Amino acid sequence: MATALTTTPGVRVEEGVGRIPGFVNIYTFLEGERIVLIDTGFSPKAKSVVKAFQASKVPLTRLGRVLLTHHHVDHMGGAAQLLQSTGAPISCHAEDAPFVDGRVKAPMPRIMRLFMKVHPAAVASMLSDGDLVGPLQVIHTPGHTPGEVVFYHPGRKILFAGDSLREQKGKLILPAARFASNIAQAVSSLQRLQRLDVALMLPGHGEPIGTDFSGLLDDLVRRAPDEYLRG
Ligand SMILES: [Zn+2]
Ligand SMILES: [Zn+2]
Repeated sequence: MATALTTTPGVRVEEGVGRIPGFVNIYTFLEGERIVLIDTGFSPKAKSVVKAFQASKVPLTRLGRVLLTHHHVDHMGGAAQLLQSTGAPISCHAEDAPFVDGRVKAPMPRIMRLFMKVHPAAVASMLSDGDLVGPLQVIHTPGHTPGEVVFYHPGRKILFAGDSLREQKGKLILPAARFASNIAQAVSSLQRLQRLDVALMLPGHGEPIGTDFSGLLDDLVRRAPDEYLRG
């Protein structure tokens, strides 16, 4: 039997939760003997993921599954490579799956398209709102993309927020409207997050938030119509 895993790759956030920082935060979550990866980063070689596993001396073969918060290339860029090298199944929401598996070309600012080649990856399981993936609950928060999801651990009150929210200078904000499939929908999806009891919020961009998440979220909800929906 393989040795028991006591650590998870990345910078330790708390017991069994690691963060691989970068332009996008990638998170690792220890579930039994397997590592669950939340998002993969830009790199088509999944460089930061591979390095983080090496640094913590966890074999990449311990990767049990890859959960994608949404289809944007900064979050799914390394998925094809990880699938090829580990066979770990990829899951994402059904509405983003066509962009991840390459059936539909992802809308992307032209400047990004010039620099980036998207490597499509087969999606093994399509997620829907309310699904459970191990202890993680899938919550559909559309608007940034049609199939944006967050992963919520009710027992530990951890929220892997993807791009449904981001942290900037201690505040919560939304990613820019120009990157959103439907910004009004992204604003209303915030209400789904207000119902959650969150002790630790782990965003796709910015720093984790461990205190007063609900106060910060209420503040964003109050500001959002002015900041995102007018003009
Ligand atoms: Zn995004
Ligand atoms: Zn992003």
